[in-house]
Amino acid sequence: QDQPPPPRARAEIDLGALRGNVRVLRDRAESGAALMAVVKSDAYGHGMVPVARAALEAGAGWLGTATPQEALALRAAGIRSRVLCWLWTPGDPWRAGIEADLDMGVSGMWALREVAAAAREAGRPARIQLKADTGLGRNGCQPADWPALVAAALAAQEAGEVVVTGLWSHFACADEPGHPSVGAQLDLFHEMLAYAEKEGVEPEVRHIANSPATLTVPESHFDLVRTGIAMYGISPSPALGTPQDFGLRPVMTLSASVALVKQVPEGHGVSYGHHYVTPQRTNLGLVPLGYADGIPRHASGRGPVLVGDARAAGASGTPWRRVAGRVAMDQFVVDLGDDVVEPGTPAVLFGPGDRGEPTAEDWAEAAGTIAYEIVTRIGARVPRVYV
Ligand code: PLP
Repeated sequence: QDQPPPPRARAEIDLGALRGNVRVLRDRAESGAALMAVVKSDAYGHGMVPVARAALEAGAGWLGTATPQEALALRAAGIRSRVLCWLWTPGDPWRAGIEADLDMGVSGMWALREVAAAAREAGRPARIQLKADTGLGRNGCQPADWPALVAAALAAQEAGEVVVTGLWSHFACADEPGHPSVGAQLDLFHEMLAYAEKEGVEPEVRHIANSPATLTVPESHFDLVRTGIAMYGISPSPALGTPQDFGLRPVMTLSASVALVKQVPEGHGVSYGHHYVTPQRTNLGLVPLGYADGIPRHASGRGPVLVGDARAAGASGTPWRRVAGRVAMDQFVVDLGDDVVEPGTPAVLFGPGDRGEPTAEDWAEAAGTIAYEIVTRIGARVPRVYV
């Protein structure tokens, strides 16, 4: 039997909160639209297989991954649901994808050629979903190249090499309220859908909505919404609102045990470069997490931490301590002022925020990034503990 990991540092994953978020998002999706749980990048750092299972239990109908390797890992774990994976590179395992019954995103002619060849080898058709670039300018087929891709896909379907199960796209700016590109992308998506359907494509699902569009652009829901960040209880952008505004609950709580507490005199430099110098005699606490664990070095001097009980607010009136000096590879220091805490006291970096602790959004702000990056980069050395 597995021993529980020692409490030195852990990312607690609240699967009950995740299931609740899936239900909230399903309720938000327009009637008839299914929910795809986006579990790429180890479920945004939360652990792909446990998250996938919990999301399916709560009513997700599909899973979404970036790479085929991620999708195949879901199958290896025994997960049988529909899985769309969209980030293919020449030479990727198309045949394994076909044999694993994946739905595979196709954005251009090279991919269609490779998947059709793999289908001939496998002796069975591949399920593919044609991706349109309606304005993101990233993956997806340009409108000018769409007729040729649609014609080639229909010919491959005629030949029994593929079945086109979906037509889809992705938004660029749905996280910016009122951004004009959202409407423009939707108009172009309608046009590209109409063209493909007029030519004879009969997609099972048409989809474009990510989390921000699921939360705020109902006319974008079509047959399926693809939600990542909101399912993890994080708002796609502070400009849209807080997780609580949408009834979502953050899933990950990152904490560590204070490893050392010591008193130092006034004028003591702290951590590499001495970017923090103690303003008076003070107590320093050592937190055993660093940039190798995904704690952003850009949050040096700023990242917030709740040490001990939120009710024991420091002299400044806020219970949060700040990273003192630079975040190092494996550790950072907080200035505890007059407080003396015991080694082993919990230091919470972020969580849902309702026990006085900071949130992933607070860390994103401190590091000049987005909360997506904060949770996704929590390193493999930090055990995920499912509660
Ligand atoms: N769909 C695609 C194609 C994506 O790449 C992503 C993530 O970036 C998502 C959906 C989910 O986005 P979000 O996490 O904003 O819901």
